[in-house]
Amino acid sequence: MGSILVVGSLAYDDVRTPFAAQDGVLGGAASYFSMAASLYAPVRLVGVVGDDFREADLGRLRARGIDISGIERRRGRSFRWTGVYDFVNDTAETVNTDLGVFGDWRPQIPEAYADSEFVFLANIDPEIQLATLAQMRRPKVVALDTMNYWIEHSREALINVIRKVDVVSINEGEARQLFETFKIVKAAREILALGPKVLVVKRGENGATLFTKDGSFWAPAYPLEETVDPTGAGDTFAGGFVGYIAECGGFEDAAVLRRAVLHGTVCASYSVERFSVDGIASVDRGAVDARYRALHELIRV
Ligand code: AMP
Repeated sequence: MGSILVVGSLAYDDVRTPFAAQDGVLGGAASYFSMAASLYAPVRLVGVVGDDFREADLGRLRARGIDISGIERRRGRSFRWTGVYDFVNDTAETVNTDLGVFGDWRPQIPEAYADSEFVFLANIDPEIQLATLAQMRRPKVVALDTMNYWIEHSREALINVIRKVDVVSINEGEARQLFETFKIVKAAREILALGPKVLVVKRGENGATLFTKDGSFWAPAYPLEETVDPTGAGDTFAGGFVGYIAECGGFEDAAVLRRAVLHGTVCASYSVERFSVDGIASVDRGAVDARYRALHELIRV
């Protein structure tokens, strides 16, 4: 089992759904990812927070066994994001993004982290993703996630970093936007043509599709009667997906990738049951494995 290094946003989110709202709750792609991935393998988190970031929130990450010595604290405001969900959509409309201390920050990967075997470049400025990769020694698997904001603001840098990674994990809408097409299969071909071996397209309630040069695999979302807050579904998916791959030591065996899709799906299902990271933070590996078996049974022919 190898260690996972993650770099990405640590944030305070303001979230509105048709039924409820919460302000200033712990969010950020790296927080959600780490909460899930730490169920599978040791996680080292690199990011930056402002002087408004609560000690208690760092404590929640630490309590999960996540190594947070790579989190820098700077003068200024932490990253803030405001998202709104309507009835038909499980993709947030971004009302506000305030990069705060992430604005001109570039990561300094601690020497002890540089040999991490697995690297997850969580959703953040692609220039930060590139600067992280440049400091890694010889990672076995590098995976990346992103968001419409970066496709709109930094497409060129994003394409550059996609060329250097093994795995891309992206939303359906973002895949379409990246290559200006309605067709996911076409967008998938274009993304794989840039170099990655694996692409996972996350499709909200419709599940997730895995694309490799040898074929594809599609798993439905875990059926839930009620969801509270879709925020972080993509990042907890990535946490389960990359976490399971790290636990297995890589994905030479193609079956590992399919099982990783189910692990990602299960982690995402726990995440959306509560606001903020509360859902994923409240489960242990036993709960994940139980839901994995139920999902596996659901798709078995
Ligand atoms: P997800 O719902 O999985 O796409 O991720 C939502 C999380 O991403 C929220 O907790 C936000 O704080 C964070 N986020 C939103 N916009 C950005 C952005 N432009 N860059 C980095 N993180 C972001």
